[in-house]
Amino acid sequence: MLEKLEQLSDDLQDISSWLPFDRLPLVIAGPCSAESEQQVISTARELAAAPNVKVFRAGIWKPRTRPDTFEGVGQAGLQWLKAVKDETSLLTATEVAGAKHVELCLEGDVDILWVGARTTVNPFLVQEIADAVRGVDVPVLVKNPINAELGLWLGAIERLHNAGIRKLAAIDRGFSTYVEMKYRNDPNWQIPIELKRLIPRLPLICDPSHIAGSRDLIEPISEAALEFGFKALMIETHINPDEALSDSQQQITPRALIELLGKLRARDTTPSDEHVRSEIARMRSAISKVDSELINDLAERMKWVDQIGELKKQHNIAVLQLDRWESLVEDHVARAKQLGLDSDFVKSVFELIHTEAVKRQL
Ligand code: PEP
Ligand code: MN
Repeated sequence: MLEKLEQLSDDLQDISSWLPFDRLPLVIAGPCSAESEQQVISTARELAAAPNVKVFRAGIWKPRTRPDTFEGVGQAGLQWLKAVKDETSLLTATEVAGAKHVELCLEGDVDILWVGARTTVNPFLVQEIADAVRGVDVPVLVKNPINAELGLWLGAIERLHNAGIRKLAAIDRGFSTYVEMKYRNDPNWQIPIELKRLIPRLPLICDPSHIAGSRDLIEPISEAALEFGFKALMIETHINPDEALSDSQQQITPRALIELLGKLRARDTTPSDEHVRSEIARMRSAISKVDSELINDLAERMKWVDQIGELKKQHNIAVLQLDRWESLVEDHVARAKQLGLDSDFVKSVFELIHTEAVKRQL
């Protein structure tokens, strides 16, 4: 699989060739849903003034969780997107969830398509979309599936690439979770990072609006995304967010977006300053040295574990000694705390070590 993904990565067309930008982060902005021509055009006009904003987004077919909610204006919205193109320099993007949507968008001259989270989970639909774009040179952005699974995300990207799409990017919009948390969707940063490791040339876009679910969290999530090396953001923007027909809590005005972008700065992934570069190299080598000591210590620990396991076997003593384990965690957490380490982190590390130690003795 790795080799196949490497080939896919090499085959991708650089994002700067299909989405020209002069300033990072690159921003895709616009309302969750296109609601009226006036709402679409007035939002786009204000967004066109933001130097980072290059693409105008608006959903026209809306996959709503519950029925009897606004499900989008449908095909009528295509003309409004066309009007945005005619009036501003923005490219347009909308969500497609099947072949019919793709067909209509291509006829309607939409520049960029995106596959929504509720569609990425369904290989039948993704394949249908891939077949519909086969032979067309259109960029497709793939949102992560709602559930925290890398496989479906990769699968959707592969299906589109197999259909000849070379202008691809992935959008992290967070993952649905039952666990109570301050975000609407768990960002699970390790999943997009793993995706990037497997397909290094695939651009990653963060959608802080759907991760946050509320306006006040858009900024910290955007900051975190930049720290993780995301180069682009998709941010839901509405001329009158409180009146929005979908996702009203997480949309901001174009003015608030411009203000937010004024505070954000994309991070360099490779520093140009020679001194900074050499300092980073020096610190990385110190970290690697500590890592190899950690590995040696773990191996040494497991040697003792094997010996104690033998002894327990010979004397018919149970492997798991719960009181020993509890006092050990208590001691380690207390000591780690003194050294400024997070208790939960240290506990998780020792839980892993202990699980392995028990396994070796069985
Ligand atoms: C959207 O972008 O408005 C949308 C429906 O997104 P998602 O597929 O991420 O829920
Ligand atoms: Mn939305």
